[in-house]
Amino acid sequence: MKREKIPVAVLAATGSVGQRFVQLLEGHPWFEVVAVTASDRSVGQTYGKACHWILPEAMPERVAGLTVLPTEPDSVKVPLVFSALPADVAKEVEPAFAQAGMAVCSNASAHRRQADVPLLLPEINPDHVRLVEAQRRRTGWKGCILTDPNCTSAGMTVALGVLQAAFGVRKVFAVSLQALSGAGYPGVPALDIIDNAIPYVGGEEEKVEWEPRKMLGTLKDEQIELADFIISAHTNRVAVSDGHLVCLSVELGNKATPQQAAQALRDYMAPAASASLPSAPRPVILVRDEPDRPQPRLDRGAGAGMTTVVGRIRPDPLFDLKMVVLSHNTIRGAAGGSIYNAELLVDQGLLD
Ligand code: NAP
Repeated sequence: MKREKIPVAVLAATGSVGQRFVQLLEGHPWFEVVAVTASDRSVGQTYGKACHWILPEAMPERVAGLTVLPTEPDSVKVPLVFSALPADVAKEVEPAFAQAGMAVCSNASAHRRQADVPLLLPEINPDHVRLVEAQRRRTGWKGCILTDPNCTSAGMTVALGVLQAAFGVRKVFAVSLQALSGAGYPGVPALDIIDNAIPYVGGEEEKVEWEPRKMLGTLKDEQIELADFIISAHTNRVAVSDGHLVCLSVELGNKATPQQAAQALRDYMAPAASASLPSAPRPVILVRDEPDRPQPRLDRGAGAGMTTVVGRIRPDPLFDLKMVVLSHNTIRGAAGGSIYNAELLVDQGLLD
């Protein structure tokens, strides 16, 4: 059945993630971008003029002609907004949009730790979306806020979720190699990163050590019981444009060989609630057998940037298994993930 497209707005549409939203939403079967917002720097200009477009895909012409609006609920009258706001701005602004009746699908970290705000990877924990019912009761909002994880947590949590379900997970040691687009635009100065790697990404390790535990936690009586394992993370910035690699060492609850782990990852199917949504990753996980894959430049486009790519699954002398996980940070780890969240919200009848 053909349904009317839902009009949507992109908040902070001019940045690295905002541009991805605009690009991915062009031609989306359910959503249509009718409004874009940004900071005072851009308000009043056309999107085409205000935005320094950095994607290889062309800027959609229709959106290029839209006037950039202030990031205020009164200037945007739509049921659903996608937020690519900086966290400090999102903290105040996203609740105002939710209070004004809009569902806010956010990329910002500001509300991820709130107990009744879903932190979603629909291919792994679609049941957590029901937390918005508790959120609406607590706040009295007609709208709601739902979040996607930090871009480094996304892919590794997909892989850990499958391992947790198949074998149990006890301990995780994670080392990231994160792309430059994860720092936004213009991001890290060229002279800091060319011929270099930076062993510090502000605030990232705390997020990577906690967010997977919420996403892989259990929903009970409208609360999430955090998954019972610990993560130690080292996060690093490297001179790659897009695609975050994470090297994982994992202690399992029940022993498994690399072949058994590869099979479990390869066989994984998303739950029925999320498997057939338009942005569902197809496949959820791609396991590569070559000794030198995944690589960001070669593998980040798998499943249109939504697939998690895993390789180098081998025994680990400290824990049980080690492996390398890749996911596209501005697609699966940001805009594509948020769009998938919004599809789940709509499909579950939770968009009022
Ligand atoms: P970015 O490239 O630096 O873009 C920042 C955006 O925020 C611009 O559109 C800017 O508008 C807008 N903005 C700044 N201050 C504002 C204000 N006071 N009111 C309204 N808009 C304002 O950053 P980004 O990488 O897109 O990141 C956006 C958010 O997504 C952040 O919360 C980030 O942590 C999160 N995130 C990013 C990634 C990633 O891979 N990049 C992944 C996951 C999550 P102007 O152009 O008008 O200044």
